[in-house]
Amino acid sequence: MKKYDDIVVGSGISGMTLALLLGMNGHSVLLLEKNRNIGGSMARFYKQGVPFDTGFHFTGGFYKNGILSDMLTVLGIDDQIQPVFITKEDGNRVIFEEDNSVYDFPFGYDETTAKMKEYFPGEKNAIEQYFKMVLDVCKKTVALDLRNLSLSQDWIDEDYISLDEVLNKLTGNKKLKGLLSKYSMCYGAKPSEISFANHSRVSLGLYESVARVKDGGDAFIRAFKKRFAGFDIDIRTNSCITECADVGNNIVGKFVLNTGEEIAANRCIFTIHPKAILDVLPKNHLTKAFISRVNAFESTAGFFSLFGVVENSVPNDKNADNTSEPTILSLFSSSDINRMMDPAYTGDPALVILKNQETMNGKTHTVLTALELAFPEHVRDWEDSRPGVRSDGYRNYKNSRIENIMKRIIGVYPEFNETFRFIDAASMLTFRDYLYSPDGSAYGIKQKVGQFNLFGKLPLRNIYAAGQSSVLPGIVGAMLSSFIIGRAIVGKEPYIGFITERLNG
Ligand SMILES: Cc1cc2nc3c(=O)[nH]c(=O)nc-3n(C[C@H](O)[C@H](O)[C@H](O)COP(=O)(O)OP(=O)(O)OC[C@H]3O[C@@H](n4cnc5c(N)ncnc54)[C@H](O)[C@@H]3O)c2cc1C
Repeated sequence: MKKYDDIVVGSGISGMTLALLLGMNGHSVLLLEKNRNIGGSMARFYKQGVPFDTGFHFTGGFYKNGILSDMLTVLGIDDQIQPVFITKEDGNRVIFEEDNSVYDFPFGYDETTAKMKEYFPGEKNAIEQYFKMVLDVCKKTVALDLRNLSLSQDWIDEDYISLDEVLNKLTGNKKLKGLLSKYSMCYGAKPSEISFANHSRVSLGLYESVARVKDGGDAFIRAFKKRFAGFDIDIRTNSCITECADVGNNIVGKFVLNTGEEIAANRCIFTIHPKAILDVLPKNHLTKAFISRVNAFESTAGFFSLFGVVENSVPNDKNADNTSEPTILSLFSSSDINRMMDPAYTGDPALVILKNQETMNGKTHTVLTALELAFPEHVRDWEDSRPGVRSDGYRNYKNSRIENIMKRIIGVYPEFNETFRFIDAASMLTFRDYLYSPDGSAYGIKQKVGQFNLFGKLPLRNIYAAGQSSVLPGIVGAMLSSFIIGRAIVGKEPYIGFITERLNG
C-alpha cells in the first residue's frame, strides 16, 4: 500500500496552496482531484477561441506587503502572477438603478474614503468611523499576518456584531449603507448575516486595490504545476476517496479511492465543501451533534453568469475608450442589500459586469462577463437534473435570465448594441456540476455572525478541513486557510522559520 505524509482532497486554490506548502516543507503529498483537471474554480474555459473565467475574476491583496503578494512570495510563484490593477476613475462603479445614481470606487483606501465623503458630505463622521473600524479589525486580526497566524485565533468584538448593526448605528443614509455593503457580492451573505469583522477582512484588500490577473486563474494553475514538479507531490485527477477505513482510536488507517486502490497517510486534509466532506467521513465515528451542525450550515449565494465578446472593438487603439484596463460595473436595483440578497427578492438581481481584454493566438478580444446574483431556490425544480439532459422548463429559465441580463448590459453600454455577441451562460446548476460542489454556491458556507465553520482538526484525529468555507471566502481567504492548516501540520517553529526565510530571502 502506497503511503504519503498527507493527502490533500480537492485541487482548487486551497488544495494547490496546501499541497505546495507541505511539499516545500519536505512532506510527501498526494493531491486528489475528482475532476479531469486540477484548478477547481480557478480553471478558465475556452469557447470560440476566447478564454473566460469560471470563479476568479478579481481580487484585492496585491499591494506591497499585502496578504496575497506575501502568500505568492512564500510559495515562490509571485513572479508568474501578473496583476492588472483597476485604476481608472470609473473603473469600479456602482449604479443604483432605482434613480440611476452613479458612484465610483477609486483606487486606494484613502482615496475611497475621500470619495465617499465627497458623495455624502453630511456623513463625514460616519464614513471616517466606518473606514477606521475596517482598518482596526484587520490590524487586530492575527490571521492576516503570515508570521503570526495560528489555528487558535482570538475572536474580537467585531466577530459578534453584524455589518448591518454597525452601519445602522453609524448612519441612516440608505445609499451610503448600500455602497458600504457593496462587497457582500464577494462573500455571498447578507449584511445582516456577516460579522463586521469578516466583512472588513474581505473588504479592506478591495478598498486598497482591485486587480485582475493576466491569464486569470490559469496563470495560478500553470505556476503551481511548475512548482509541484520540484517536490514530492503526486497528483491524481478523476480521483476521490470513497471510504475512510480501518478507523481505530479515532484515526483513519487507510483511504480507499474510487479506483479501489488503498492509500495510507498520516493525515488527510479536505478542501472541499463541508457537506461533501460529511459524505466521505465514516458516520459511525461521528457524533449526531457534529452531523447536524454540518447539515445546518447555509451555503452562500451564487451567480448566474453570462459570457460574451464585443465584436469589432478596437482594443489596440490607445485613444479608444475601451483601453486594455479592466472595469467592474455593479448594477443594484435597490440600495437595500439585505433585500436584494434575499432569494425571494422579485426586483432585478444585483448584476456585476466585468469588462476586460484577452489575447489569444495573437487576437485581442474585449470580453464581457456578467455575474447575476442567484440562489439554489431559483433552480430547485431542476436540482435532480444533469448537464445535457435538462428540461424545457430549465431552458426557459435560463433564456429568460439571459434576455434580461442582455437588456441590462445594453442599457449601460448602448454602444455595444450591435456588437455584443452572447457566447454562453451558466446557472448555479452548471457551477454545481462542473465544480463538484453540492449546490453551486460561489463561496461555500456562509460566514455568519458567531458561527464556527468547519476548520482544522475534525472529530477524527488525522482528518482536517480547510478551504473557502473555513476562515474567509474568495481566493485570498481560501489560500489563507491553507497557510493556517499548513502551520498546524508543520509545527510552529519550522513554519515560522520557513515563512521568515521565504519573505526575507
Ligand atoms: C461564479 C463565481 C465567481 C467568483 N468570483 C470570484 C472572484 O472574482 N474573486 C475571488 O476571490 N473569488 C471568486 N469566487 C470564489 C472563489 O472561486 C472561491 O472562493 C475559491 O476559488 C475557492 O477555492 P477552493 O479551493 O476552496 O474551492 P474550489 O475551487 O471549489 O476547489 C475544490 C476542488 O475540489 C474538487 N472536489 C470536490 N469534491 C471532491 C472530492 N470528493 N474529491 C476530490 N476532489 C473534489 C473540485 O472538483 C474542485 O476542483 C467566485 C466563485 C464563483 C462560483
